[in-house]
Amino acid sequence: MDNGKLYVDDMSQEIPELDAPAAVIDSSNSYIDNSNDSSGQTNHTQSSRHDLVLVRVLDKRGHEIYASGEASDMAMPDDSVSQPLAGKPWRETMSGGPEPSIRVYSTMLVDGNTIIGVVQVGQSLETLNQSLDRIVLVLFVLMLLSLAMCSLGSYWLSGRAFRSIQRLARTAREINANDLKQRVLVPAAKDEVRDLSIIFNQMIARLERAFIQQRRLVADASHELRTPVAVIRNMTEVALSQPANAAEYTRVLAEINEESEHLGHLINDLLVLARADEGQIHLDCEPVRLDLLALDVVDSLEPLAQERQIALHTQTLMPATILGDAARLIQVIMSLVDNALNYTNAGGMITLAVEVRESYTYLHVTDTGIGIEAKDIDHIFERFYRADPARSKVVGGSGLGLSIVDWVVRAHKGVIKVKSEPGKGSTFTLILPCANVQ
Ligand code: ADP
Repeated sequence: MDNGKLYVDDMSQEIPELDAPAAVIDSSNSYIDNSNDSSGQTNHTQSSRHDLVLVRVLDKRGHEIYASGEASDMAMPDDSVSQPLAGKPWRETMSGGPEPSIRVYSTMLVDGNTIIGVVQVGQSLETLNQSLDRIVLVLFVLMLLSLAMCSLGSYWLSGRAFRSIQRLARTAREINANDLKQRVLVPAAKDEVRDLSIIFNQMIARLERAFIQQRRLVADASHELRTPVAVIRNMTEVALSQPANAAEYTRVLAEINEESEHLGHLINDLLVLARADEGQIHLDCEPVRLDLLALDVVDSLEPLAQERQIALHTQTLMPATILGDAARLIQVIMSLVDNALNYTNAGGMITLAVEVRESYTYLHVTDTGIGIEAKDIDHIFERFYRADPARSKVVGGSGLGLSIVDWVVRAHKGVIKVKSEPGKGSTFTLILPCANVQ
């Protein structure tokens, strides 16, 4: 205030709510003549850039002494004056005025220590709202763009993934029992499709192995069955082609009987394995004394051993109870002792021993026979595998005995191990869990 004139300075720095550049009032050009203050008349100053900013100056009695533009039309509440005069700035958003909404800030006007009035500054929120609308629009467009990009990206990605899956499906369709050599291409990217392709290829490899095994089994079985049938046919043809006496016919019939018996065993063993493969064989689960079964087998095969001049006896026989199927277990021990008798020469020895160690029962069948070459040991449990085909032919084995043994032992949660030295003999060991740990 100087010579009755109240000068208006740039207050934009003190009013953070105002748009600073728009709120600048040129202090050199803007002043209020306060000389006729009592009349309440106001002199409007030259002002610039007041489109957005409304300024009102009131004396401490609340009389308007200056109003820029349409500021005088604004109906301001009493608080907007009384509150700043009490020392507390007042801020409010006014609507219903000339502008849609105006944010008003009202504060005390002081000259040194003297309160000279109140200054009110308002800014239309229209520009701000327009800016906000523009921002919303831009954000909306950006959102649409990112949505479109996301959709394109996921379409491209899913297309890539589906291409691999489609390739997988195509290969799966092309694969049949006659062509299990095909494999799907494993994608380089380490993702689920790659895992799926690897698992798929592993599955096909397993199927291929199973099919090869199955085909070999069928071929071997046909061959095994054809031989005794051919022998029988040959003998009957010879017998029928020329007249023979009763003794000759009896000899032929006895040979036919022997071949039929062999054929019967073969068919029986094949049936057992086929039904075992399909899980159709039910095994009992009763407490069984393995040491007593070993004794029974020795007793029943003793005459055969004597006939072949082989010593058959038992060694340590610890009482050993396991849970299992007594009939199948007898068949297993019989098979092992029978093999030992077949592959041991006269003068040899076969011993059976049963011992219990750390909750497991060990049954050893040891012979001093021909032994098995190391290269054959891993294969002797395969169907129709014979380490020494010539010898097997003489003893008339089906080549299925150890396959059945292996199945029965595994069905009892056990394992079978073989130690052998060619020319010295072999030991077959059954390891089965004792009854208390099953
Ligand atoms: P097989 O009916 O020919 O005896 P197995 O399945 O019982 O058929 O045995 C498979 C092969 O294992 C036999 O052909 C034989 O070569 C070998 N084998 C089994 N037991 C013995 C043994 N105690 N001593 C030497 N070789 C054996």
